[in-house]
Parts: sequence; C-alpha cells; structure tokens
Amino acid sequence: MMSGHFRVRAVGLLAGAGLLATAACGSGTAETASAGDKPRVVAAFYPLQWLAERVGGADIDVSVLTAPGVEPHDLELGAQQIADLQDATLSVYIKGVQPAVDDALGQQGDRAFDAATAVKTLPAAEHAGEEEAHEHEVSYDPHLWLDPSRFATVAGKLGERMAQADPAHAQAYKDRAAKTAADLAALDREMTKGLTSCTSKTMVTSHEAFGYLADRYKLKQIGITLDPESEPSPARIAEVAKLANAEKVTTIFTEALVSPKVAEVLAQEVHAKTAVLDPLEGKPAGGDYLTQMRQNLKTLQTALGCA
Ligand SMILES: [Zn+2]
Repeated sequence: MMSGHFRVRAVGLLAGAGLLATAACGSGTAETASAGDKPRVVAAFYPLQWLAERVGGADIDVSVLTAPGVEPHDLELGAQQIADLQDATLSVYIKGVQPAVDDALGQQGDRAFDAATAVKTLPAAEHAGEEEAHEHEVSYDPHLWLDPSRFATVAGKLGERMAQADPAHAQAYKDRAAKTAADLAALDREMTKGLTSCTSKTMVTSHEAFGYLADRYKLKQIGITLDPESEPSPARIAEVAKLANAEKVTTIFTEALVSPKVAEVLAQEVHAKTAVLDPLEGKPAGGDYLTQMRQNLKTLQTALGCA
C-alpha cells in the first residue's frame, strides 16, 4: 500500500515537471530547466567520483555507487543500482576493481567509460602460491588512480567523453578537464620531488594497491595481500616479515577501510611502527583526492626517511 501510494505521487510530480518544461520552452526562457535535465554520470567509486565532479562541474549530476566507508572491491549491486548504472548518460569505472560493476557495464558500449583504457596499465601483482581472489581478475593492476600523472590523462579523456555525451557544454568539460589535469600534474611534481632522496625505497602495504605509485616514484611495494578481502597465509606473513627485515623497513602501512590487525601483528614481529597510507578506494574522512594524496606524501616521507 505504502509503495503504491508513493508511486502515484512520484508520477504526479513528474507530470508536473513535464508541464513546467513545456511552458519554459514555449516562453523561450531556460531558467526553469530542473536538475533532472542534466546529464547523469554514475561513478563506480570515490576517485572516479572526484574526477567526474571536477570535470563535470555544474553541468552534470554525479552520483557514486560505492557509499563512503565501504571497501569498493567487494561491492554488491542491487537491482536498482544496476538499473541506475545502465540508465546513466555516462558510467565511469575501472574494469578489474569491482566485478559486480564490470558485469553490469559489460554491454554498455559508448555509455560506459573504463578509465583503464585511457592509460598504459601495469601487470597485475602476483604472489607465489596465493590463489586469485575472484574469477573476474584482469591481467593488469587496476589501481591506476594512485599515479597522478596517469590520472591526469584519465581527466583529459573523461572531458572528451563528457563533451561527446553533452555537446552543448563541450568546451566547459574540456576546460575543466585541463584544469584538473594541471592540478594533478602539480601534485605529481611535488611527489617526484618529495620522494627522490629517501633512506628506504620499500613500502610494506596492507593490500597491493600502490603499484602505480611505486612505479612512478621509483619505490618498491611489498603488499601483504593481493586484495583487501583475502586473509594472508602464515607463509605469506613470514615471507613479508623476512623481506621487511632485510630491507630494514621501519613502518608497515595500514589503510582506512581494511582492518589493521594483520599489519599490526607484522609490525610487532619486525619491530616497526604502523601508519595509515590511504589508497583512496573510499572518500577520505576530510578533504579530497588532492589533499589526501599530499597527506600520503607526508606519511611516505616520514616512513621512508626522505630529505
Ligand atoms: Zn585495491
């Protein structure tokens, strides 16, 4: 009964909006165009939401599939979310991060933008003896947003895709994409400079999320697990402890959305501290992508003894 009542009301509202829009066209004014008229972009998880909001500006309505505080890799989608995703003007995702999203967008063609197609990807990490986490594993490492230079390339491509989807605002998308890419390039320069002279080059991380950051800034990543859902085997923990001791690692990195328990046990074993290095798979508690990456830079500089 309740939902039936609500549906009737919703239809009434839509009819009203249609009348308003018709009236607006007739009188030649555009000011009554409602928010519902904007192209709708659905971003799969936080860094893509940030990018879509920056590039889309006020010309687009952006929503995000992965709620704040939820680890995105194991996201499950309800029927309504799948419908939202498939009905969006443009969906932005990275194939290989979220199997449920990959499945829903598999047939979307032009209306889905896979950011992994915009950059040169790195091969997926492998741990000897460890089983693949799920059947949708791709052959590349999907965590490309953690290299600001690659993410700047994605910004430019996203600007082009938004311009195609909404030609009336094409120049605005391209301008905002260029500004976003410039901000990412500035971050990249700061990180390059800040991570050049460090005592240690080895990061021991909770899951293998920082391959692109390591590649870009000539660091070495040792991830305890390949993905956040899996528990490391005792053999893997022993192996990481051995590597951490050999590399004289002083800090084991934990992340906001994954339990720090395993990292804490390992840190005790190798007499290291722990510190949070955020892979930005979710929205940071404060600030945004750029401020959290700068915080990550500080954390790395302290842990690795950078001048
Ligand atoms: Zn990840």
